Amino acid sequence: MNTSFLNFARDIYAAEDILEEEPMARHTTFRVGGPADCLLQVSDAGQLAATTHYLNETGLDYFVLGNGSNLLVSDKGYRGVILQIGPKMSEVTVDGTLVRAQAGASMAKTARTAMEHGLTGLEFASGIPGTIGGGVIMNAGAYGGEMKQVVESVTVLAPDGNIMVLDNASMEFGYRTSALKNRHFVVLEASFRLQESDRSSVQAKMEELAEQRRSKQPLEFPSAGSTFKRPEGYFAGKLIMDAGMRGYRIGGAQVSEKHCGFLINAANASAQDIYDLIETVKERVYDVFEVKLETEVILLGEF
Ligand SMILES: Cc1cc2nc3c(=O)[nH]c(=O)nc-3n(C[C@H](O)[C@H](O)[C@H](O)COP(=O)(O)OP(=O)(O)OC[C@H]3O[C@@H](n4cnc5c(N)ncnc54)[C@H](O)[C@@H]3O)c2cc1C
Repeated sequence: MNTSFLNFARDIYAAEDILEEEPMARHTTFRVGGPADCLLQVSDAGQLAATTHYLNETGLDYFVLGNGSNLLVSDKGYRGVILQIGPKMSEVTVDGTLVRAQAGASMAKTARTAMEHGLTGLEFASGIPGTIGGGVIMNAGAYGGEMKQVVESVTVLAPDGNIMVLDNASMEFGYRTSALKNRHFVVLEASFRLQESDRSSVQAKMEELAEQRRSKQPLEFPSAGSTFKRPEGYFAGKLIMDAGMRGYRIGGAQVSEKHCGFLINAANASAQDIYDLIETVKERVYDVFEVKLETEVILLGEF
């Protein structure tokens, strides 16, 4: 890694928060991915602003990481800096019906906190294994709920170094996307406007959804959830199954037998195995149904 960047980082990060040549397999739910030149575990907005300023000025590549639950990183890794917004920025507070979560808080913790305060609206997010930052950027959703329905505002660090508060409309939420996707805006915090309810019914709803996930999804294998977006008028999983690809394997990567919309790391897959399987599934589904599948999973590095 660039020595002057490392000297800069050592001035503002604790030594244990600077990870050089860090295997990305440790930071993605697919459990694959080669080394990033440097991974920084960010603790606060000031540190982050100084870092992005340096990186923007010097032109070094960087990528913002949450929990890596929607990410496929190449076996060759990533030539640049990974800024991880995770456990060190994960405070959740409640003020009446407003829940505020720092970007690194997990969606599970945020939903649980809402439940403990008898607030309803975030149950859908309780089983999504990402951070609030990743959830907001992706407009994460499940079982009829999505971030768009509950976000009141999002605090971001803009590429020019300004901190801005965006309201729901400015986020331009769409299906698994938002105005901030791929634009080097970093989510610092999000506020959610929820409704009063009672703790036990919110908890019961969360347990019911967790049970649905356990029964339908291959949670026992590493994956990034649904690999493909839902094509309009279809379900990706059904198309893949009807194309005869249930259980289809390339190396250690496999189309899940339990839910064909999930490509899983069944046995020590490489990132390339998973990538090749994605491409093969796309081709087969197109050949059979003339439907173009689009990946929901984000690709990082060279394949
Ligand atoms: C078993 C399983 C089940 C899943 N089920 C669902 C589901 O039901 N619904 C659903 O929508 N998704 C689901 N997912 C996918 C994934 O959990 C979501 O997309 C989640 O929102 C990703 O959050 P993350 O923190 O892991 O983001 P990452 O994977 O780390 O990153 C995803 C994107 O967000 C960006 N990003 C992350 N944090 C920030 C930040 N602070 N500021 C700016 N950009 C940021 C990254 O740069 C990247 O572009 C599932 C995944 C798994 C493994």
